[in-house]
Amino acid sequence: MNIALIAHDKKKTDLIQFVTAYKSIFEKHSLFATGTTGLKIQDATSLPITRFQSGPLGGDQEIGAMIAKNNMDMVIFFRDPLTAQPHEPDVSALIRLCDVYAVPLATNMGTAEILVRSLEQGDLEWRNLVRGKEGD
Ligand code: PGA
Repeated sequence: MNIALIAHDKKKTDLIQFVTAYKSIFEKHSLFATGTTGLKIQDATSLPITRFQSGPLGGDQEIGAMIAKNNMDMVIFFRDPLTAQPHEPDVSALIRLCDVYAVPLATNMGTAEILVRSLEQGDLEWRNLVRGKEGD
């Protein structure tokens, strides 16, 4: 499965801890991330991660493009709901595309836990069917 990892600045430590805790699951999948988030997770976990631009410089849109091509199976996006983001339109667009393409999306650790456990149990295998039909 292709999994996108994104965290706003005040949530990056949480995401690093989360990925570290579930490293044994994440290492079986292909990871993608916005620039700074990806770098920090890579440094902390040594997991291979395909990194895009930093979020404010277009990274969220790059991940959105993968979603639009049905090439993303899950998005874990730890948003900071208490800080205004300069790229808020990009954040909204990414979330909207997850809804357009029925991509499982977690915006906080509670939901992310459930998604990652579902991943481990094989509950997201239907994504392979979706990608088989519509992926490029
Ligand atoms: P970053 O981008 O990982 O480059 O910090 C995340 C974001 O703010 O969307």
